[in-house]
Amino acid sequence: MCGIVAYIGSKPAYPILINGLKRLEYRGYDSAGIALLDKNISTYKRKGKVSDLEAFVEDKNTNGFIGIGHTRWATHGAPNDVNAHPHVSQHGHFVIIHNGIIENYGRLKKRLEDRGYKFQSETDTEVLSNLIEYIYLKGNVSAEIAVRLALTKVIGAYGLVIMCKDEPDKLIAARKGSPLVIGIGKEEYYLASDATPIVEYTKSVIYLNENDIAIIKKDELSLKSLTNEKLTPEIHTLDLDVDEIEKGGYEHYMLKEIFEQPRSILDTFRGRVVPDMSAIHLGGLLEVLPRLKEAKRIIIIGCGTSWHAGLVGEYLLEDLARIPVEVEYASEFRYRNPIINKDDVIIAISQSGETADTLAAIQLAKENGAMVLGICNVVGSSIPRLTDGGVYTHAGPEIGVASTKAFTAQVTVLTMMAILLGRERNIISDENYKKLILELVSIPEKIEKILTYSAVFEKIAALYKNANNFLYLGRGYFFPVALEGALKLKEISYIHAEGYPAAEMKHGPIALIDEKMPIVVIAAKDKSYEKVVSNIQEVKARKGIVIAIVTEGDTIIKEMADHVLEIPYTHEALGPLLAVIPLQLLSYYIAVMRGCNVDQPRNLAKSVTVE
Ligand code: GLU
Repeated sequence: MCGIVAYIGSKPAYPILINGLKRLEYRGYDSAGIALLDKNISTYKRKGKVSDLEAFVEDKNTNGFIGIGHTRWATHGAPNDVNAHPHVSQHGHFVIIHNGIIENYGRLKKRLEDRGYKFQSETDTEVLSNLIEYIYLKGNVSAEIAVRLALTKVIGAYGLVIMCKDEPDKLIAARKGSPLVIGIGKEEYYLASDATPIVEYTKSVIYLNENDIAIIKKDELSLKSLTNEKLTPEIHTLDLDVDEIEKGGYEHYMLKEIFEQPRSILDTFRGRVVPDMSAIHLGGLLEVLPRLKEAKRIIIIGCGTSWHAGLVGEYLLEDLARIPVEVEYASEFRYRNPIINKDDVIIAISQSGETADTLAAIQLAKENGAMVLGICNVVGSSIPRLTDGGVYTHAGPEIGVASTKAFTAQVTVLTMMAILLGRERNIISDENYKKLILELVSIPEKIEKILTYSAVFEKIAALYKNANNFLYLGRGYFFPVALEGALKLKEISYIHAEGYPAAEMKHGPIALIDEKMPIVVIAAKDKSYEKVVSNIQEVKARKGIVIAIVTEGDTIIKEMADHVLEIPYTHEALGPLLAVIPLQLLSYYIAVMRGCNVDQPRNLAKSVTVE
């Protein structure tokens, strides 16, 4: 959440900052702002999108070779011009951009007010800018020392970039909890919350570690700890191409990402399913496998869509590997005094690898001696660096705020883990092992086929785009898919939707059903098929509208449902990978027809780096 970008070098900073903000806009779009250091510091900020900022600065001075930019997802204070970043300290010495939350900002603010500081905004960030300035002026110290001392007084999370008007040759950056990447150019440096604004200029990067402070001049970078020890930066090479972060001819990133799924799933199992398809090999689990296969219990933690992937994981791991699994919301897990044993294995799922609640839950699990594994998409992000092992999803950058290809890539990884563990624990036979692998390998082609029906989904979307409520039902492996389908619809079309286990319907939601209520039922062929058929009858008896996702060739449900959407046959354990595709497309088309901003839905942002 919140996008940070900064530049120092010999090129005009403004175009780099504006381009960078456009790339980062998916992380927050409440306001955007920049500060440029020319002779003086000019700060421009505007409520709304980066394009609003761009229009605002059109006739302004945008000179300068050093600058910082921010796109905000508001936590403290309404999304307006004043609360927008950058924040300039009261006497104008410092200007800062911040991603995160300063939790003790109230106390710090009060102390500064007692010392004569007046605040313009409601943000926690302005408190930090004034605290740095107060220490700087009072202690007559350098900007670097002032920043360091101020940060020792701060409780909370931050990714920060700071300019000081009296030391115009440098940027100071710091992180705790919120990510920051530094791109290394020739006599120039780029900084950003993630690599997307950097990749078109350089592939050499440094990921700031927790509590690192970087002092960056155009030809020199020094890295220090919060306790002022000198650190040696570790340089990494980005494995990312510019076309991966472009829309590539699609109207929206979300649509592009839905259509990318045959490839992203293939990329996720490529090199992991051995070429003759006889085995699964997960390099990131090799060292931990002995402990993993003996786990007494697996606890999967995640938030949002990743939590849904975790639920699919529960069905997979219990069914195929017979290991007890619990799935927890990271935010609940960390605060409810959970029981964690040394022989538990924790699997943390996060697309960005930066989700604040998931990171905190990992810390807790580690303190209790459990082994922690990660399933993340962003290489080099915080979670993979904290865990004992794990598997990257190779979905490529996901820019649409509503997760699609990251979900199917996470489920692909969990499927591979469950098949592998099932074999290692002698739960599945050699024959079934191979059968499951072959099924997995056939998934991309089957998704290709579903995608060719997109015009059918579009037609159904047109019929129900004005509904006020939707219900999504599924059983077994398809229950988490029902939850995910409902979440997709809520997120991007703002229609109220609920996902339920189909049999639970009669314990409550059935009361909502009338002739205006569309009910999406995932009724693909599996062991509860007959039961789902009965649930459809129950809905029809109450005049609900049934949109059924069925296995190709199904004739029974065709007779009862108002609409059927076909998906190819697969083993039920792999069913979620297919069944979710029509649900993603249905939500997408409904949202577009309702005129919603599909890629940047209101109030949401990607990469949730605040608790
Ligand atoms: N707390 C800061 C604000 O509200 C930054 C928010 C964020 O990083 O999402 O402006």
